[in-house]
Amino acid sequence: MTWSMWLVPPFVTSIFFVLGVITLYWSIFNWVTAKAESLNKPVNLNHVQIWVGALCASVSVLALQMLVRDSHLSWTFTSFQLLILLFVAYFLQIRIPYWMIVIAAVAFMLINGNIQEPLSWGYTFTYGAFYVVAYAQSVRMWPHPILRYLVTTLIFAMALWLFVKFRFSLSWRTYVEELINYMILAGLMYGYFKLQNKDRRIKDRLFQVANWDALTRVKNYAAYDREIGYQFQHSVAHHRDLAMIMFDIDHFKHINDTYGHLAGDEVLKGIASTVSNVLKKDGETLTLYRTGGEEFNVILPGYKVEQAQAVAQDVFNAVAQLSVKYNESVIHVTLSIGVSSLAVKDRNPLDFYKRVDANLYHSKKNGRMQITVD
Ligand code: GH3
Ligand code: MG
Ligand code: MG
Repeated sequence: MTWSMWLVPPFVTSIFFVLGVITLYWSIFNWVTAKAESLNKPVNLNHVQIWVGALCASVSVLALQMLVRDSHLSWTFTSFQLLILLFVAYFLQIRIPYWMIVIAAVAFMLINGNIQEPLSWGYTFTYGAFYVVAYAQSVRMWPHPILRYLVTTLIFAMALWLFVKFRFSLSWRTYVEELINYMILAGLMYGYFKLQNKDRRIKDRLFQVANWDALTRVKNYAAYDREIGYQFQHSVAHHRDLAMIMFDIDHFKHINDTYGHLAGDEVLKGIASTVSNVLKKDGETLTLYRTGGEEFNVILPGYKVEQAQAVAQDVFNAVAQLSVKYNESVIHVTLSIGVSSLAVKDRNPLDFYKRVDANLYHSKKNGRMQITVD
């Protein structure tokens, strides 16, 4: 049996078409975000969502419409147009300016070759109104979202299919059948999209928990471990500089003992945020990691030891000037810091790490509140 012999009813095909567009969207979306994450680039998920979504939606609408344009069958993809609209306005919440809707609407009628038809104008502007209402339904946190979705969807579909019915002189039977099919697809789309979205949120959450420290909101040891492995390999292979700063809070136990553990937590948060700000100012490629209880590391790709020392000095000064308020108390802390850069004799990331750690240890032994560099 050849492919052309598969007598699949159009409704079944349409189910797979709709699910296929959503799956295509999610696959591209996941691929783009995973790629950006692996390259350590900060991504704006909203922008990715808008671009990928708009791309999938417009390609599928245009591809379908080109098939039937200017023919007596151009009504057959009406339901898809409505579903794509829901996808863009309701699920992706893509905000399209009204003037753009008007231009798109007129362009669409031109492509379809029906701009002279009053019913097409009625259809097109009801379609625009559907976008506005679907978008509002989605972004406002109104109660009973599923019910609202189904009712809005049904009312607009009834109105829009009515234009189509009269323009193409369809029977009432076709009208009702198309509406029922459309509602089933719209319901399926809701379930499938929500399922995928939930999956995505769980993945994001796992990624977040696995790589970020919950207290200080900087990256954690696992993220450090992965990054130093990568940076080590990369720097050795490309003969590139690599430096590291490691610091530990002086007499931190004393702060916990004097002001309490919660006060200690506030100090950790204050230091993490202060140092992050310093690093942001000093260079885009610098990342802070909480590698232990009150120990932090900064990886400095492309930095020579003197440049890293200057950054360490900025970190040291900023923390020395920091006042952490907790209840009635104002707490001041200092850091002991170790700095080093990659050496030819380092055979693995641990060799490198040990030298930075030894420098930090030297700062501690030597009276704390200082920076040791070699
Ligand atoms: P030193 O100057 O030699 O570094 O002295 P220290 O007191 O800072 O060092 P020590 O290693 O003896 O104590 C570190 C303390 O940090 C012990 C531990 O209770 C505390 N600590 C580790 N993680 C946390 C945390 O998440 N919150 C709070 N409040 N304290 C923490
Ligand atoms: Mg300490
Ligand atoms: Mg310590």
